[in-house]
Amino acid sequence: MNVGFIGLGIMGTPMAAHLVAAGHTVSGYDVVPEAVGKLEAAGGRAASSVADAVADADVVITMLPNHPHVEEVVLGAGGVLDTAKPGTLLADMSTIRPETSIAVANAAREKDIRVLDAPVSGGEAGARQGTLSIMVGGDEADFAAASPLFEAFGATIVHVGPHGAGQVVKAANQLVVGGIYALVGEAIVLMEGSGVDAGTGLDVLAGGLAANRILDLKRESMVARRFEPGFRIDLHHKDMSIALAAARQAEVSLPMTGLVAQLIAAARAMGHGSLDHSALLKVTEELSGRA
Ligand code: NAD
Repeated sequence: MNVGFIGLGIMGTPMAAHLVAAGHTVSGYDVVPEAVGKLEAAGGRAASSVADAVADADVVITMLPNHPHVEEVVLGAGGVLDTAKPGTLLADMSTIRPETSIAVANAAREKDIRVLDAPVSGGEAGARQGTLSIMVGGDEADFAAASPLFEAFGATIVHVGPHGAGQVVKAANQLVVGGIYALVGEAIVLMEGSGVDAGTGLDVLAGGLAANRILDLKRESMVARRFEPGFRIDLHHKDMSIALAAARQAEVSLPMTGLVAQLIAAARAMGHGSLDHSALLKVTEELSGRA
């Protein structure tokens, strides 16, 4: 397929490279010229603008930081809706508010452009290894049409509902991940504050009902206070605001999510925004006078 790829950052560059490797023709654009250079080095074509990237595309993929970037690239003057051919399929794989995904789909319908929201989980490692989880909202036929592309970099690819549903599932993912980090941090602070070896204690937790993937992957680095990212506090802060916005939209009350969002905001305010989200432990240490 001819693919226009906008947003060649940490995630977008390896995803676009997988598409090239799978035999697709990829025209990529990013506001940062070096990012476009990386796609060229991987065998893609460097586009000079959004319009240039999407002109001949069957499918356009956007992988941008947040909803204002998606609004600019998709809805703005000279953006995807202005310049893509009628019938083009747009898969927005950025993590953004569900309500923006729905607004984009509604605006696109008027231009005869089909849209999927398809955020991912799995991080930079998942993007590089081609093992991302992809949660997709939109029409079933469009999901089927985009699936061959998603298979180039995804291992778990699931159609979860109509427009916006992919973003809702991603928000649910992020609130659970944030909550588990907060509680594992509290477990460490409790054990250390009680004179109990936290590493040994977490080994026991990891074998019982409290077992979870974060304990498996991160307990050693958390106990050792190694917080190099990974997934940065700054991005998780953005994702918690998406979860709270989605809750407001759905008119549901998520008190734990609100609390975790405040703890992540505190981590950021303490200057830890560039650290891995496991650095939530530092907030609990600060609250306990153990920083
Ligand atoms: P990133 O900041 O590395 O990449 C975003 C890219 O978009 C940048 O290269 C930036 O220059 C480009 N961009 C911004 N505005 C643009 C515009 N107007 N036109 C063209 N390009 C523009 O971010 P990332 O880590 O690749 O994340 C992208 C999305 O994926 C985010 O929504 C993030 O939350 C989500 N995500 C990230 C991870 C992760 O581990 N990094 C994991 C899952 C999901």
